[in-house]
Amino acid sequence: MKADLVLVNGHVLTMNPSKPYAEAVAIKKGKIVKVGGNEEISHFIGKKTVIIDLKGKSVIPGLIDVHIHVADFGKILNWVNLNGAKSIEEMRKQIKLHSERTPKGRWIIGYGWDEANFMEKRLPNVKDLDEAAQENPVVLYRRQGRVCVVNTKALELAGITGETVPPQGGEIEKDPQTGELTGILRENATDLVWKIIPEPAEDEIIENVKLAFQKILEVGIATIHWIVLSPSEVAIIRKLCTKNELPIRVHLIIPIALLKDMENLKAALKGKVKLQGVIIFADGSLASRTAALSKPYKDCPTTRGPLFYTQEQLIELIAEIRKNNLQPVIHAMGDKAVKMALNAVEEALAEADRRNLRPRIEQAAVLNKALIKRMKGLGVLVSVQPYMIFSEFSVWSAMDGLGGERARWLYPLRTLMAESVKVCGGSDCPMEPLNPFIQIKAAVARQFFQEEQITVDEALRLYTVNAAYASFEEDLKGSVEEGKLADLTVLSQNPLEISPNEIDRIKVDMTIVGGKIAYSSFS
Ligand SMILES: [Zn+2]
Repeated sequence: MKADLVLVNGHVLTMNPSKPYAEAVAIKKGKIVKVGGNEEISHFIGKKTVIIDLKGKSVIPGLIDVHIHVADFGKILNWVNLNGAKSIEEMRKQIKLHSERTPKGRWIIGYGWDEANFMEKRLPNVKDLDEAAQENPVVLYRRQGRVCVVNTKALELAGITGETVPPQGGEIEKDPQTGELTGILRENATDLVWKIIPEPAEDEIIENVKLAFQKILEVGIATIHWIVLSPSEVAIIRKLCTKNELPIRVHLIIPIALLKDMENLKAALKGKVKLQGVIIFADGSLASRTAALSKPYKDCPTTRGPLFYTQEQLIELIAEIRKNNLQPVIHAMGDKAVKMALNAVEEALAEADRRNLRPRIEQAAVLNKALIKRMKGLGVLVSVQPYMIFSEFSVWSAMDGLGGERARWLYPLRTLMAESVKVCGGSDCPMEPLNPFIQIKAAVARQFFQEEQITVDEALRLYTVNAAYASFEEDLKGSVEEGKLADLTVLSQNPLEISPNEIDRIKVDMTIVGGKIAYSSFS
């Protein structure tokens, strides 16, 4: 048999324990037909075989991101990233450039500026923005924190004048000398503008989603679990299926409200996208103190965080998901919410159902030994986005919010893996970074409670073998093995030979999906 494509002279980290390393891979009809040494693979080279000389680069199984919000990510890709702006002048230039490419009247949204980084050492104002764009309304959000600056066009559209009374908990800033609007809106006053920005048109969203797919491929991801939050996203997915514009493998996790239309949806997906699971939100997030805890927040003794469902409701919802033969995906951050999720799984699913449906908990942030034991016993999977470890400890202060004793059990990945709980990895992009190597670094080089660090090999498992298990595809994906789908990621460096602190510097040179080169920067 001659192959369609062979990769030779590489370091293949197969993630297959019975044959962990290889030099070369042969691919035919989208599947891996041989994994081995260069000599073995040479027999698969025929006249039409495409040969890629890896020149010593590393190959891993195509990565799987089990938690990503593609539509939101696409939206943000069209926003102006002002993270690096060192001056108001630079920011102005960026906006001017963007406005020249943007149709008249369309909103320009930017994010990430910080006056502390500005040479001018002052806040930007309405006049700065008017100089950059007169024909487009402009709103630029400051980094972390609910402050934005807008231009005159945006003020007009929002109906904000010198007489406008700001909403409670908000400020419409005025120049103390002249009394004129400065264009700066704070806290709840930012909503005056946010609420009038129109949703992008469908063709614009589709363009953005396609751009998102490209970015996803560029970081080595071949399969995503798209967490759908609104019905409008489903219309987009249907269109992409019809037009056959899916360069990556897509699994859908839909909100419970869409279950009633499931048969229609399934038909529209034409077998090109897998309808996998249903997400339920048992609670909110730690930073907003809406994660449900069994004991109050340490820095707010009156709050334990709300539960979005009663125990009975959760049980009913999971039973409903089971009836539809889909994977129950329960977002639960606080220990109270995790406990209720586990109760619901135990109550609603018989042992055989649990084996078949592989219920999973998203986040499972605040844990304890008893909860981990129960997860193991029930065969419940945990889906994590390891960068949250960094976010919760460094951006939000988990030590203040939870106290040291509970913070010790925040994302205890080492313990979870030692207890053989199946942990799979995602990004939660655009809330957290898309790049799996940034996520992996957060797990292997965590600064707080380092006893919960995991190894690079284990972290790679989150995005390969374990993620394939979470997708019911352990026989198809997750390792470089004969008979499996030819989804492969070529890396600039060997992740097992680089310091864990530098693992986020690894670049993806090529992403192969089903034997086709879907992205390449390789020369
Ligand atoms: Zn999410």
